[in-house]
Amino acid sequence: MSSSLPVLEPLTSSDRGARRSTRRVPVGSVAIGGEAPIAIQSMCATKTTDIPLTLTQIRLLEAAGADIIRIAIDSRKDIEALEQIRKETSANLVVDLQENYRLAEKAGPFVQKFRYNPGHLHHHQRSVPVEDKVKYLVETAGTFDCAIRIGVNFGSLDPDQKAEADDPMQAALASAEQHVAIMEDLGFERFVVSLKSSDPRAVVAINREFAARAPMIPLHLGVTEAGMLPDGAIKTRIAFEQLLAQGVGETVRVSLTLPDNEKDKEILTAREIIEDVQAGRFRSVPDFLDGGLNVISCPSCSRVENRAFVDLAQKVKAALKPFEEKDLTVAVMGCRVNGPGETDEADLGLWCAPTFVNLKRGESLVGKFAYDEVIGRLLEEVDSILASRS
Ligand code: SF4
Repeated sequence: MSSSLPVLEPLTSSDRGARRSTRRVPVGSVAIGGEAPIAIQSMCATKTTDIPLTLTQIRLLEAAGADIIRIAIDSRKDIEALEQIRKETSANLVVDLQENYRLAEKAGPFVQKFRYNPGHLHHHQRSVPVEDKVKYLVETAGTFDCAIRIGVNFGSLDPDQKAEADDPMQAALASAEQHVAIMEDLGFERFVVSLKSSDPRAVVAINREFAARAPMIPLHLGVTEAGMLPDGAIKTRIAFEQLLAQGVGETVRVSLTLPDNEKDKEILTAREIIEDVQAGRFRSVPDFLDGGLNVISCPSCSRVENRAFVDLAQKVKAALKPFEEKDLTVAVMGCRVNGPGETDEADLGLWCAPTFVNLKRGESLVGKFAYDEVIGRLLEEVDSILASRS
């Protein structure tokens, strides 16, 4: 059975429902779910090894009211930096393990939570069954008093589940349910789940479905790669209003492409949406999603291949301004982790390598271009797509 996206109607104050009651998952000095207020999260976009810059960003996010702050780690050097960062901050930290899940035992002493992506677990130790990998993460979390997030992302789904399912939503649900079942078989309940897509309608549909199937499991909400302001906040608001109005969502992360010194806008945007929903003020216009230019871009993180990424994303958006009325989706991604997958569904995709940018049209690579020449090639492809439609 394939899934269809819901038709989203504007909400009114009478649509506001009571918050549901889930398990309570402690994360350092805060909790997700139970009676706890909705926790607001963000993620550092700095290189983790740049300790001063990472600490500056942690403080910026804390000052804005972040309850939990995520940091990506991929190497021993990142772990060494994390150890130093821990000495300088009491923030509730979560590490993003992505592909390198075995770093959990090194990061555990310094953090309150692990996030892993089921779609990336197969990259290392391919002969080890997924059940054993999850068991390792659960035992490591237990050793270090950490919570876990099972972070499923439509752009990086487990290849086996993607091949078996009718569509990404079914594959994402199957992936989350597989990992939940493994954890529950192990008697571990200190986890939350996220199911993220860059399409707000998909985020609404899959979180509604998961909440109906697993009402006790706290959900971390997010529209991934929502892009730049103001569109990124609008897309996120559309999804969050629909879900929070139904009482679904125990923690949120707003993902925006922002310069390093403006990262606090993720927290401020999240808080504004939550306060509006709690007051019965619904401002989103679901029609915003119907046609027109859609620029998807990741919020960047420690893995970004070139610090010119945010600048590139802003230039792409500016260059595409004449095409605002065109039905065109362009994705701009910072690295190889989610870049290749998240650009597959877009009409055109750019994903960064250290010294060049990969330009894709649908799933096909157009070529690899220097940072200062890729926008010209992008515009040629836009012209070619529009000409092919006329
Ligand atoms: S695409 Fe890469 S750089 Fe961008 S947020 Fe994801 S992991 Fe970080």
